[in-house]
Amino acid sequence: MYRDYYSDEEWGKIQQLAQTEETPFLVVLLDMIKTKFDEFRDSFPYAKIYYAVKANPGVEVLSLLRDLGSNFDIASVYELDKVLALGVSPERISFGNTIKKARHVREAYEKGVRLFVTDSEADVKILAKEAPGSKIFFRVLMEALTADWPLSRKFGCQPRMVTELVSQAADAGLEPFGISFHVGSQQREISAWDAAIAKANYLFEWMEEEHIHLKAMNMGGGFPADYLSKTNPLSVYAEEITRYIGLHFGDDTPEIYLEPGRGLVGEAGVLVSEVVLISKKSKTDLKRWVYTDVGKFSGLIETMDESIKYPVYTEKNGETGDVILAGPTCDSQDIMYEDFKYQLPMGLEIGDKVYWLSTGAYTTSYSSVEFNGFPPLKTYFV
Ligand SMILES: *Cc1c(COP(=O)(O)O)cnc(C)c1O
Repeated sequence: MYRDYYSDEEWGKIQQLAQTEETPFLVVLLDMIKTKFDEFRDSFPYAKIYYAVKANPGVEVLSLLRDLGSNFDIASVYELDKVLALGVSPERISFGNTIKKARHVREAYEKGVRLFVTDSEADVKILAKEAPGSKIFFRVLMEALTADWPLSRKFGCQPRMVTELVSQAADAGLEPFGISFHVGSQQREISAWDAAIAKANYLFEWMEEEHIHLKAMNMGGGFPADYLSKTNPLSVYAEEITRYIGLHFGDDTPEIYLEPGRGLVGEAGVLVSEVVLISKKSKTDLKRWVYTDVGKFSGLIETMDESIKYPVYTEKNGETGDVILAGPTCDSQDIMYEDFKYQLPMGLEIGDKVYWLSTGAYTTSYSSVEFNGFPPLKTYFV
């Protein structure tokens, strides 16, 4: 079933690597990213797409998106250097992190970046000093209660504070450019955008009364990848979101920016692992513990609180039973799924491959460097 998500040709490439290479590793299917990018562009023909580099910063992914004409949302000067090194011009880059050192803002400015996002008074001061005249998005706080991986609380500020920051920025010689928000990552409730766009529109009107004309709305990411919990296809998201924009802004639509991460690269990755050990805690234990050579510290951190439930596939058929899925390290937190009962074949054995589907986003970039001596998660791009 889930395995059908990938074509026979794609699956063939994955299996070939599985036979020859030491696990664990991620296989990234570049054609799937291209298809997704085209789908984003076709679904939102009016939007500028800024790929959120943090989702998968692989050079092959970045080069592909560069060639497809994508722009880039970066979170640090390190991501900036990586993107610039690929020949992307700084006009195609937005510094989206609201938390940044003054000297990094200066460095980005010196390297040509002129688009930043902010959500605090102190950061506006830094931007005014280190990146004078730059275009600024002001990020408004969102609840994100229905997102599987919320980004709320930490980012954005209350609407009233947004208006104060806009004025502060204008007075300090920055160019107030627009309102940004992020409805939470893996947002399955499309109506979250309705509320967010309404909030943004209200801020546009508020600023208009203060004679500041904002030009753009940055709708962030939040577009889902297919995991165990069902989501609507991107076309449905696009249809609804486009309707909300019309509903709230009428004919006076601002420039629209999108920053997909997960939705663009998530499905294009398959993490190949191997069963290291299968055990029971007593002879009569009904549950099997299945330990794989990949875990929370080597790429599967989004299984924290069992937030993201990846489809898991093995090549064994037949009757299945409950398992607890855990990683290989000496940390008791290194358990991926225990409450949610994954079912794996009763015939599963040590050495069998376990495939984690839809793992193209937030895996390699989150993998630890040397915990228990295990190396960071490798990637093969095919
Ligand atoms: C993480 C992030 C994104 C990407 O979010 P996804 O849910 O992965 O699409 C976009 N914009 C900003 C500012 C982010 O922090």
